[in-house]
Amino acid sequence: MLDYHIHTTYCGHASGELEDYVRHALTQPLQEIGFADHLPMLKWARPEYAMSFPQLPHYVQEVQQLRQRFPALRIKLGIEADYYSPAEEHETEELLRQYPFDYVYGSVHFLDGWAIDDPRNMHRWDEMGVDAVFERYFHQLQQAARSGLFDIISHPDVVKKFGHRPGKDFSALIEDTIKCCKEANVAVEINTSGLRKPVHEIYPAPQMIRLLHHYDVPIVFGSDAHSPEEVGKDFAFARKTAKECGMQELVIFQQRTIDGAIPL
Ligand code: ZN
Ligand code: FE
Ligand code: FE
Ligand code: ZN
Repeated sequence: MLDYHIHTTYCGHASGELEDYVRHALTQPLQEIGFADHLPMLKWARPEYAMSFPQLPHYVQEVQQLRQRFPALRIKLGIEADYYSPAEEHETEELLRQYPFDYVYGSVHFLDGWAIDDPRNMHRWDEMGVDAVFERYFHQLQQAARSGLFDIISHPDVVKKFGHRPGKDFSALIEDTIKCCKEANVAVEINTSGLRKPVHEIYPAPQMIRLLHHYDVPIVFGSDAHSPEEVGKDFAFARKTAKECGMQELVIFQQRTIDGAIPL
């Protein structure tokens, strides 16, 4: 299997050295891993959300050095980039172009500067209303998929992280979002971190994984590890769930193109 979503101390809210993540990966049934720490933020930047601009070249260099030191494991250079709005697309593209990433995750964590996954901001849910949050989230995710900036959409229903359930039926909006990914040629991540969050569910929900299979959208696995022992966490469950939804393989990225697959 592969784990493409591994954070590092660079982002300000993860623990352990990069090498510790690699060493834990070597104890797991993983043929390949990729680091995908938070890209420096173009808007609303805070030291506890993402690495700074001066740190970015060091992050890249450190991943490249680990690749030399641990030839037993294929180590990819990825990044997790925020999608804000169309206004920041050009600048995001310019930034991403400067480094030899194997893949770029596109994430929606912010609605108008509100970090929807930050437990310190829960009052915003009451102010905006759960249905409005879900609607805004999926529309912004569609924009992210269509932007052409990203290779993979990460944790596609992370909006459910704290267990909020919309009153409205969002299945049509969710299906449209998956069609967007297919049309834009973007892969989608099965992310196990939701199992460790208040919602206690995998991202995305099995209903959405079945749609990914139906529309033939390629998938990868990510643990969203923010500490070394989380690398590959709950992947047996992810594998079982993905297979039950019809999935047969995970795709491999190299220099921002799909370059092979690993059977599930
Ligand atoms: Zn993070
Ligand atoms: Fe994320
Ligand atoms: Fe992440
Ligand atoms: Zn993430």
